[in-house]
Amino acid sequence: MFDLGIIGGGPAGYTAAERAGNKGLSVVLFEMDRLGGVCLNEGCIPAKTLLHSAKVHNLIENADKFGIHIGADITFDLPHVIERKDRIVEKLTTGVQEKLTNANATIVQGKAEIESRIYGGFSIKCSNQAYEVKNLMIATGSSVDMPEIPGIDSPAVCTHRDLLSLEQIPSSMVIIGGGIIGIEFANFFASIGVQVSVIEIAGEILNETDKEISAILRNEYEKRGIQFFLKSTVTSIDGEKVAFAQDGEKKSISGQKVLIAAGRRPNLEGFGLEKLDVECYRKGIRVSRTMLTSEPNVYAAGDVTGFSKLAHAAYREAEVAVNVIAGEQDFMNFKSIPTCIYSDPEIAYVGISEESLKMAWMPHRIIRVPMSSSGRFVIENGTFEGLCKIIVSESDEILGVHVVGNSAPEIIASASMAIDAHMTVNDWRKTIFPHPTVTEIFREALFSE
Ligand SMILES: Cc1cc2nc3c(=O)[nH]c(=O)nc-3n(C[C@H](O)[C@H](O)[C@H](O)COP(=O)(O)OP(=O)(O)OC[C@H]3O[C@@H](n4cnc5c(N)ncnc54)[C@H](O)[C@@H]3O)c2cc1C
Repeated sequence: MFDLGIIGGGPAGYTAAERAGNKGLSVVLFEMDRLGGVCLNEGCIPAKTLLHSAKVHNLIENADKFGIHIGADITFDLPHVIERKDRIVEKLTTGVQEKLTNANATIVQGKAEIESRIYGGFSIKCSNQAYEVKNLMIATGSSVDMPEIPGIDSPAVCTHRDLLSLEQIPSSMVIIGGGIIGIEFANFFASIGVQVSVIEIAGEILNETDKEISAILRNEYEKRGIQFFLKSTVTSIDGEKVAFAQDGEKKSISGQKVLIAAGRRPNLEGFGLEKLDVECYRKGIRVSRTMLTSEPNVYAAGDVTGFSKLAHAAYREAEVAVNVIAGEQDFMNFKSIPTCIYSDPEIAYVGISEESLKMAWMPHRIIRVPMSSSGRFVIENGTFEGLCKIIVSESDEILGVHVVGNSAPEIIASASMAIDAHMTVNDWRKTIFPHPTVTEIFREALFSE
């Protein structure tokens, strides 16, 4: 009998397998598709590889600003960019495979199904063989949520998966959904000259982001020619034409490609979950701070829990579960999970937002400085001001940090640690930030009052 059986080999599953193996636990990992899950094969890594090529393209196009004059036409060689992306994905998935082998994890290729609870554990069936495990981790991830729109089967309609192997650059694109995935792809396509329009049902893009930060980004995108239709509900798709209602007014817009980016739903069906007494809620499997579900010895981690739907949260959740299984004390601090958006300019934030504090009538103050207070930021970004907002409690504790400006995702871990450690403004001031770096923005903000 294995100490741990894991269903799903994405960031949650493969991290759990590696950590468990390295702790000397016997572990079996079931994966029905490719190791690495959405993150390595169709999410974080491939999407960011394309975005990096777009960033290089942008830099060259704007090289004049940095005193470099490039005469010849710039060509964005899409097949080459896609081929580079495939190589990077291959290299990283092979790396995961090697790490799991080194950790002595057993990898079983195939669709796993929970058969039953047995004495002292569970029986899992995969590829016509039964495996007995003492503890079970559900790490089945999430899938694209396809809304029920008449005409959604139109040939122009695509998901992010189709875009990752695109052969030709479309002239125009309509993106349904102004969430993280929609906004990142808007950046990519606008950077390479595609006319992009975004249709968003809410009053602002990036629904879960600080409203001031989202508005700054939208404003920058609008300057680049991206069109936004907010408070708009798509009613039908007919070929390349997308019909929608905005404030009761009927409108339509056409795109050679129509990207559906309306969210993701947890994978809860088709693997026998109903045979266990695992409680689910609207967003996924309900877990405690130790990642334990309502059924003893059954853990869940990653997108299937519906907490943050980010790979770095999946890693940590998996580690917490493995530590608990190994008899160590550990728990998840959901408040210190950073969110990163690879838009241009980039966004990153962690902790509580201004809106939620206002709604809860919680006394707080906000420290606010432009990103251009960092010398490195000015060197690299020119005239864009950006914003860094630090939200502080009455007792001076850091509650939230929200940043718009490159390279927000690279610097946010420091803020995450400050929140995790319940640091006050004075505690965080004692960090020595290297100079000149964009991270110094936190020092500037903390000493600005
Ligand atoms: C376009 C895009 C860009 C993204 N960019 C980022 C980013 O920049 N940063 C970030 O942090 N996050 C990003 N994400 C989110 C990130 O990819 C997910 O949060 C992460 O992959 C979740 O990991 P997971 O292990 O929970 O699930 P998944 O990665 O979904 O993996 C689940 C795995 O389980 C397998 N599986 C399911 N059922 C079974 C079964 N019955 N038997 C065997 N195997 C099974 C699946 O085949 C899959 O491989 C992005 C997502 C998308 C779509």
